Amino acid sequence: MLVENLIKSTVELQGFRVVEVRMGDDGLEAELAPDARYAPRCGGCGAPARYRDKRSARLFRHVPLWGIATRLVYAPRRVDCPRCGVRVEAMPWASGKRRMTRALMVTLATWARMLTWRQVAALFHCSWDTVAAAVDDAVAYGLERRDISELTHIGVDEISRKRGHVYLTNVYDLVTSRLIWSGEGRARETLDAFFDWLGEERAARLEGICCDMWRPYIDVIKARAPQATLVFDKFHIVGHLMKAVDEVRRDEIREKGEDAKALMKKTRYIWLKNPWNLSANQRARLADLERLNLKINRAYLLKEAFREFWSYTTSGWARRYLDKWFWWATHSRLAPMRDFAWMLRRHQDDLLSYFKLPIDNGAVEGLNNKARMIAHKAYGFRSAKNYIRNLYHCMAKLPLPKTLHTFA
Ligand SMILES: [Zn+2]
Repeated sequence: MLVENLIKSTVELQGFRVVEVRMGDDGLEAELAPDARYAPRCGGCGAPARYRDKRSARLFRHVPLWGIATRLVYAPRRVDCPRCGVRVEAMPWASGKRRMTRALMVTLATWARMLTWRQVAALFHCSWDTVAAAVDDAVAYGLERRDISELTHIGVDEISRKRGHVYLTNVYDLVTSRLIWSGEGRARETLDAFFDWLGEERAARLEGICCDMWRPYIDVIKARAPQATLVFDKFHIVGHLMKAVDEVRRDEIREKGEDAKALMKKTRYIWLKNPWNLSANQRARLADLERLNLKINRAYLLKEAFREFWSYTTSGWARRYLDKWFWWATHSRLAPMRDFAWMLRRHQDDLLSYFKLPIDNGAVEGLNNKARMIAHKAYGFRSAKNYIRNLYHCMAKLPLPKTLHTFA
């Protein structure tokens, strides 16, 4: 089998032919020429157009063959297009204006969903910038063609990069578990930018929006999608509660000094874990600690009692239970628990909408973990723009272009 045939079966060559394949200093070079039976097509609109002149030869990087660098060589023609004017002709194998084939773009982008960009570059003997360009093209292609006409229930979540110094706001489709939008920051303007992008028509079709008890998000959601039910994400609420319990533990160690320190050492997980997940050893430890009537013990009981809140099926019963729990927490003489209870009270109306529309961000929790993993500095993104691009690439379920042959 000739290498020519391999090129023909992996590259879109409609209107062109392979003249020869030679082994050059930098690997294989496949020289292309126009197929005289076809008129050249305009690179702007794709319509057949009149030949004008010829440019000098260009190299297009293709997927390496058995690890040997492979390039297409072609001198593009310019055409006079009645609609677009003088343009370079359309080349069906190329990825936009890039000096790489669409097949290479799709191959690099596919691997970039599994490996770091640096690893992909090493695997294909190309530069980091080539991988970045491939992902850029793949994401642009996917964003243009994805279907977001059925957006009804969304989740808003923030993630931090660089140890909490940079925040991003991610918006997820809770029905199909995919990333819809990502933007820098977690301020009012950030979520406003999302709604600007979404447009009024699609915003008006939203039925439920799930987010944390975060004032800027709440204000924007109520202003831009007033018809949607705002639901506070259960996982965020539980997170706040866990943080309060842990603060009580720290305060107690600080107040009681060295004795308490020894006693409370390594108890953090005993207080935060679900009681039925404790080991026999941990259970015995908990029983010992309970006899000492510590502050952490009262916080623990409050935390466990709060579980019941989620089990109600009507907001009326949930409200009655919340009133009881609120009284208990605010009379516990535990400042972090009291603050948590007041936070719930301030947001009580929206908190209870969970019982009308029991949605949470649980379905996309895995995606958020993935986002954190991508944020890890080993991935070596040089800018927030690259990071956001890779979030779309890995989490938005974007379609990739079809190619003649699947390399990856
Ligand atoms: Zn044209």
